[in-house]
Amino acid sequence: MLSKSNILLIYTGGTIGMMKDFETGALKAFNFKKLLQKIPELKQLECNIETISFKKPIDSSNMSPNEWIKLALIIEENYSNFDGFVILHGSDTMSYSASAMSFMLENLKKPVVFTGSQLPIGDLRTDAKENLITAIQVASSKDKGKPVIQEVCLYFEYKLYRGNRSTKISAENFNAFTSPNFPPLAESGVHLNFNSVVPKSNSKKLIVHKKLDDNVVIIKLFPGINEAVLKAIIEIPNLRAVVLETYGSGNAPTDKWFIELLEKGIKKGLYFVNVTQCSGGSVNMGKYETSTELKKLGIISGKDITTEAAITKLMYLLGQNVSPSVFKTIFESSLRGEIH
Ligand code: ASP
Repeated sequence: MLSKSNILLIYTGGTIGMMKDFETGALKAFNFKKLLQKIPELKQLECNIETISFKKPIDSSNMSPNEWIKLALIIEENYSNFDGFVILHGSDTMSYSASAMSFMLENLKKPVVFTGSQLPIGDLRTDAKENLITAIQVASSKDKGKPVIQEVCLYFEYKLYRGNRSTKISAENFNAFTSPNFPPLAESGVHLNFNSVVPKSNSKKLIVHKKLDDNVVIIKLFPGINEAVLKAIIEIPNLRAVVLETYGSGNAPTDKWFIELLEKGIKKGLYFVNVTQCSGGSVNMGKYETSTELKKLGIISGKDITTEAAITKLMYLLGQNVSPSVFKTIFESSLRGEIH
């Protein structure tokens, strides 16, 4: 007889477990035990579920590297006792957290599935039940005794995405996420259909990285960005890396002051990563005159990476103290399937 999967459900907060504050009318996190009582269906699932909750559940706007480290520790401590992990998380920053966790959990061989919802679980029209139940099914899915999914992913509204390829696209629709540069790992309809090319990880032991450097910034270019603004950012004390959100295939102004400021930043040891503002497609420096200078300066190409994955990959690599001579090469390589 096949043994039941053991799943650890980790509650961090988010709309899924929120209730209206009667005084202010605003949604705020509430008790996790009460949340579970609202889903009696969980008892029907063919797996054993254990739960653990952040002491103080949070709206995901309050997520930070400290919480990511907490999550990584929970997974590390429970890794050998469970077949899969489901993380309940607010949708607002879920793609950042899923990206960060993908880098922090090296050689992961078990599913870590992020999910949440647009409406609280107690709401009549809630999307929380389907998201949670299917996320648990994903986490318990096995093929010949091995987990089907062996990476950090995000399940929302019938689709399973690679976590570090996902991005939130709607504050309104149940279909709140997408993965513009990578196909879904699975789709849920009458059946839960896994993409046949879902990769398996290697046989190395899990390594949990707990050092992240938050001396990073995202600069989104816009027509009219001026020298004083850019200069002030580049001169931030201790700043180590910048995600530069550029236009189209990685294009930026050719003004002398702009290029000189980037050059100045590079000279003082800053890393710049060129990521496109477009939701889909890739950076291709040198295609247009407006990106040729960036290429010459040795700016790192973010290729088709999401901004969420780029900023968390920077935090991770800086935390690893990767040497400057290989930083660009490592950033431009795929570590967890986040870049092509
Ligand atoms: N503000 C909420 C959060 O991210 C939204 C959600 O859960 O969907 O925590």
